[in-house]
Amino acid sequence: MSKAWDAIVVGGGAAGLFCAGVAGQLGKKVLVLDHAPVLGEKIRISGGGRCNFTNVHSSPANFLSLNPHFVKSALARYPSKEFIKLVTAHGINYHEKHQGQLFCDDSAKQIIEMLFSECAKGKVTIRNPVSVQAIAHEGEHWLLHTSEGAEKTKTVVMATGGLPVPAIGATAYSLDIAKQFGLEVVEPRPALVPLSFTAETFGNLNELAGLSVPVRIASGSKGHRYGACRFNEDLLLTHKGLSGPAVLQASSYWVEGEPIHIDWLGAIERPGGFNCDELFNNEENHLKLTETILASVLPQRLAKAFAEQRNLMGRKWAEVSKKDRQALKELITNWSVKPAGTLGWKKAEVMLGGVDTKELDGQTMMSRKLPGLYFIGECVDVTGHLGGHNFQWAWASGYACAQAL
Ligand SMILES: Cc1cc2nc3c(=O)[nH]c(=O)nc-3n(C[C@H](O)[C@H](O)[C@H](O)COP(=O)(O)OP(=O)(O)OC[C@H]3O[C@@H](n4cnc5c(N)ncnc54)[C@H](O)[C@@H]3O)c2cc1C
Repeated sequence: MSKAWDAIVVGGGAAGLFCAGVAGQLGKKVLVLDHAPVLGEKIRISGGGRCNFTNVHSSPANFLSLNPHFVKSALARYPSKEFIKLVTAHGINYHEKHQGQLFCDDSAKQIIEMLFSECAKGKVTIRNPVSVQAIAHEGEHWLLHTSEGAEKTKTVVMATGGLPVPAIGATAYSLDIAKQFGLEVVEPRPALVPLSFTAETFGNLNELAGLSVPVRIASGSKGHRYGACRFNEDLLLTHKGLSGPAVLQASSYWVEGEPIHIDWLGAIERPGGFNCDELFNNEENHLKLTETILASVLPQRLAKAFAEQRNLMGRKWAEVSKKDRQALKELITNWSVKPAGTLGWKKAEVMLGGVDTKELDGQTMMSRKLPGLYFIGECVDVTGHLGGHNFQWAWASGYACAQAL
């Protein structure tokens, strides 16, 4: 066995590579171990291949955690503007897409190359594919048994990410190590994931697969461990259920067995907002067909589907009873529908839950019980909203840890 490393980072993804590069440049002798033959796969597939690498508005309000204050210190010390400076220094061109989301103009591979180049600057040693078989704490040191032999280190940084996309090597290894050392883990669950519905609850909407509509969506509840949410985003109808940014956001807050609420008119951009009564009480609409009135504010196919669901197709508005108008209003402004489930780890973008933040110091990401053992990135019970916040957490938690090593 060679001389002890200052740090061994287990997992060479976003958080692990970034942390290793910063620590290496601070003079630490760092080894990164990863079981995958190719590193940075999640970065490569992120943001449709262009990596939504941060969000200019990233703040603690964009994260779910049992302790919502936990992210504050790390985000304040490494805000998105710092990562943007690094991206700019590497000559990577980027653009803002929507609500502060920054994407590479060219390819997500540029972010991976940047992380490798930062690691090279810090003389970081990267070994993969190597599997870590066991981690033991021995006096002042940690001993890692790997498929390439044993390694001794002063500190261990667990950065193996979350469970989404098992096909590219996702594992629960950081959570297993946390449990092995007696640390509490908040039960993991797929998040930022499409939701599925039964045929009865979905009605005729599956015929509209491919349609994207801006909506206001609400899910969760105040008493739930991650609270409730309300987002104005695009919703995508699919053959299997609902997807698109609106539903991905809502899925993180969704409580199994409870409905989500969709206001199909809530995200219509109009000065002063949109009032459904204005549409329904307008005298000029009296002789129009129900589906025609709905089509003035909704996509035509959706307008027809709603009119059909309420048996109002081909009916003039003047002939529609007060009760039917009220039911239609409820359907389009407060569609309350119970998802049957999520599409699971294969389709999730992130993991909700992870190593309980009460076990970690928010300034350093180190275990309070076991000095020298750190957890960063997605394996921690910190989950970002859609829009670059999850990578921002990977960078910020990696930076906080690197400063402390
Ligand atoms: C399809 C998709 C698109 C996404 N798009 C975005 C986006 O645009 N913006 C955004 O902010 N977030 C996005 N995310 C989320 C983002 O990718 C993750 O939050 C982020 O990669 C987490 O960083 P991490 O370093 O914690 O984990 P990862 O980047 O997943 O890295 C974990 C590393 O650990 C390794 N590993 C796993 N198990 C072991 C083990 N047992 N031993 C050794 N090594 C192991 C893996 O091989 C991997 O290299 C997306 C996720 C998915 C799935």
